[in-house]
Amino acid sequence: MFKKILVANRGEIALRIQRACSEMGVKAVMVYSEADREAKYVKLAEEAVCIGPASASLSYLNMPALISAAEVTDAEAIHPGYGFLAENADFAERVEKSGFQFIGPTPESIRLMGDKVSAKQAMIKAGVPCVPGSEGELPDDPVQIRRTAKTVGYPVIIKAAGGGGGRGMRVVHTEAALINAVQMTKAEAGAAFGNPAVYMEKYLQNPRHIEIQILADKYKNAVYLGERDCSMQRRHQKVIEEAPAPGIPRRLIERLGERCVAACKKIGYRGAGTFEFLYENGEFYFIEMNTRVQVEHPVTEFITGVDIVKTQIMVAAGEKLPFTQRQIEIRGHAIECRINAEDPFTFTPSPGRITTWHTPGGPGVRVDSHIYTNYFIPPNYDSMIAKIIVHGDTREQALARMRTALNETVIEGIQSNIPLHRELMVDANFVAGGTNIHYLEEWLAQHKR
Ligand code: ADP
Repeated sequence: MFKKILVANRGEIALRIQRACSEMGVKAVMVYSEADREAKYVKLAEEAVCIGPASASLSYLNMPALISAAEVTDAEAIHPGYGFLAENADFAERVEKSGFQFIGPTPESIRLMGDKVSAKQAMIKAGVPCVPGSEGELPDDPVQIRRTAKTVGYPVIIKAAGGGGGRGMRVVHTEAALINAVQMTKAEAGAAFGNPAVYMEKYLQNPRHIEIQILADKYKNAVYLGERDCSMQRRHQKVIEEAPAPGIPRRLIERLGERCVAACKKIGYRGAGTFEFLYENGEFYFIEMNTRVQVEHPVTEFITGVDIVKTQIMVAAGEKLPFTQRQIEIRGHAIECRINAEDPFTFTPSPGRITTWHTPGGPGVRVDSHIYTNYFIPPNYDSMIAKIIVHGDTREQALARMRTALNETVIEGIQSNIPLHRELMVDANFVAGGTNIHYLEEWLAQHKR
């Protein structure tokens, strides 16, 4: 096992990794920007290194600063968390070339799955069902683009090969709007992701977002840890996640999970990863793979009892997966609410000083958060400040627990989306289960205030 790991991230995930290291007896070196000096995990850290100013491009995205932080502290491995450089193949490569272990898949796997076009092609080869669409990247020729759209059938969605975080996508309903939409998405993709390549998919009308969590080691052992339902989204970004997905037959999930495991073995995948699918009319369609730990990993940890972050570290250190598929049992139901510092109904970010923070507790309640009373939320980063996760024997019990947990939570000094979560937890359709990816946006439009 490693003696020391550098945690190349911030916020709740930095704390989550620090906790895993502490339990494993591994030292964790924390990094921070000038804006994050006051973070909880920095105060808790035995060793912490300032890697630059507040701007992420000069700190959390600064590869030389991160690698030299690992060098000066004698760390053996680097955990990238999620976001920032977690899915940057060049970073993984530089980490390994500098003599450190990257806690994640190989740079080749990240490259293959990071480009959504090559990922889809690899999945088609591995027998994983995909959304019908263009064969690879769209060409420049408008005639060919129109022909592809006709074959796929309107509405279509134009997506950036290098896209992420719900950005770089455009839905097209008519041929008249097609070419302009392709050109605009290309220009945006070039500017935002440094890669103007786009592809086309059939735009599914009322799907749910279902994803499969996998874990794999260097010896071609791989397991899937059930699914998560992440259909409650705003602007293609997840707001609430739960596991298992309500109302989907187990045998469909099992078949899909087995295909994902087979695909992992085929591409020599190691570490944690997520296969994301859209689910409509009893069919799954692969959309992309995330080659890292995800924000919503705790719901899976609750229903399986597997510590995903610790397992990531173990397999990166060359250990074998400590369980087989047969030993993975799904127990009960888990729900996660992402708590953001924002106006709950206009979504305007609300950074600033937290004057009061009371966390909920009790059986089956978990709070992953780096904030505390008197903590100043810097305006420079993502607005997610906490995750409240609950577990119950049934979905009903998990919902009741989440309502209780949200009622217990007090946050003052800034605005948060807790009032929104409170309303959603008693919404008849959400409570019934199985809402689709448009549900939350439609709900918000109806509940405008
Ligand atoms: P990102 O990497 O930006 O998260 P994804 O490809 O995972 O992009 O898509 C994010 C979300 O966008 C999905 O969960 C879904 O809500 C929507 N989406 C993506 N592709 C399609 C599609 N073909 N049809 C309908 N919705 C889609």
